[in-house]
Formats: sequence, C-alpha cells, structure tokens
Amino acid sequence: MIKIKTLEEIELMRESALIVSKTLGEIAKEIKPGVTTLQLDKIAEEFIRDQGATPGFLGLYDFPNTLCMSPNEQVVHGFPNNDPLQEGDIISVDCGALKNEFYGDHAYTFEVGEVASETKKLLQITKESLYVGIRQFRVGNRVGDVGFAIQEYTEKHSYGVVRELVGHGLGRKMHEDPEMPNYGKRGRGKKFKNGMVVAIEPMINMGTHRINHLKDGWTIKTADLKPSAHFEHNVAIVNGKPELLSTFKYIYDVLGIVSDEEDEFRQ
Ligand code: MG
Ligand code: MG
Repeated sequence: MIKIKTLEEIELMRESALIVSKTLGEIAKEIKPGVTTLQLDKIAEEFIRDQGATPGFLGLYDFPNTLCMSPNEQVVHGFPNNDPLQEGDIISVDCGALKNEFYGDHAYTFEVGEVASETKKLLQITKESLYVGIRQFRVGNRVGDVGFAIQEYTEKHSYGVVRELVGHGLGRKMHEDPEMPNYGKRGRGKKFKNGMVVAIEPMINMGTHRINHLKDGWTIKTADLKPSAHFEHNVAIVNGKPELLSTFKYIYDVLGIVSDEEDEFRQ
C-alpha cells in the first residue's frame, strides 16, 4: 500500500534527506587514492549521529555498516573494507539516515583521481537519466513512465539497465510501495498522486545488464565485470510536480562543480 505523506511529513523527510546530502558532502572531501572505505564509513556514522540522526542502513536487514560502498564493477550493496581506493576507481556511495521517524536514502558515484573517459561518460549519462526519470514523477503519470524514460535514455548509449534492483517508496520505512524500476512501459503501473515520496535510483552498467550476487549475501557485481554507476535522489510530488528533497549541492561545493540540474525540481 502506498503511504501518502502530508506537507508536514514531507518537510520532515526533507530534513532526513538533507542529512544524507550533507553526509555525502563530507565523504566528497575525503575521497582520494589511499583512503579506505571503512575510514569513510566511520566519518559518515559520526557525522550522521552529530546531526541527531541514526544511520539508516546500519542493522537494516542486518547490514553491518553505515554506507554501502560499491567500487567499479560492484553495482550496489558493497561493504566498506580496508582496501584503499585507487586512482581511476569509481565508487558508488549509498547512505541512509533516520530522523523524526523518517528515512532519507540517496547515493552518488564518485570518481577517484583521474578516471577513464568512457567511465566518466557512464557516470554522466547515469546521472542525467536520474533527472530524466524524476521529470516523469508527476500527477497524471504512472510508475512505468519513470522506468521507461530511464531505460530509453540509457539504452540509447548501449548501457545495461539492472533489472533485479529498483527504486522504492520512502517514508517511515526505508522501502515502501511502490517499487520504482529503472525500466518499464509507458502508462503502466501505479498512478502517481500528490504526497507520494520515492527514491529514484538508476543502476546502470557499461556493458550487460546482467549481474551476479556474491557469496557474502550482499555484494552485487556486473556479470561482465565492466563498471556500474548509481545515482539516487529522494523526490516528493507537491502540487502535481516533482519536488527534490535531497541535493548534490554539498558534493558539488566540495568538488567545485557548478550545476543548475536541480533547479527545475524546486518549488
Ligand atoms: Mg540508497
Ligand atoms: Mg534506495
């Protein structure tokens, strides 16, 4: 069942989402060759607790850490570990926070040092596909419209859209209805209504869409071991239109990126 949020609840969810946004900004400061993902995980946990929030993933379905850290060919759900990041890596950092009984949950794929140009392009197209999807999250449309838009945009570049993992409703639970696949058919699936809040999160592979689950029970890798990118925002429908609750602004401030990509989703 889809849980519709009031405007007051949406403001609380914005607070939770922004704690995650700021946490990703803190991580952006530290990402460089030599740093380990476990060091970054500690920074994130401390920062989230300093904001009066709780790490959203820690203990959820028994996940042991604050961040999901998925480098290169790992799609999502990787564990932080003691392996140092290397020049040329990419790393998906997915973070959750719980405050005022509401979850925030969003993700960014970072470049470590200088990254191959074809990998940079994968990141750029995946991030663009996130906004292409968000644009369809409005009253009058359905779940399939978001998935269709993301799939069409990324498959044009011959990328693979992961099927087994999807975006989701967000609220008092990390994963609520509806599921938000990054593929689909126009005009199909549940109808969007004012007060819906979802996490839209394209997981896009440079090569095949196929994936493998590792024996650790969590980590997911591309079947062809080519890189995979992942970007995630939290979005509400207000006045019929998509309203962004999370922001990459704190990351961009650190990385010196100037962007107006979020402007059309602010009311
Ligand atoms: Mg996430
Ligand atoms: Mg999510």
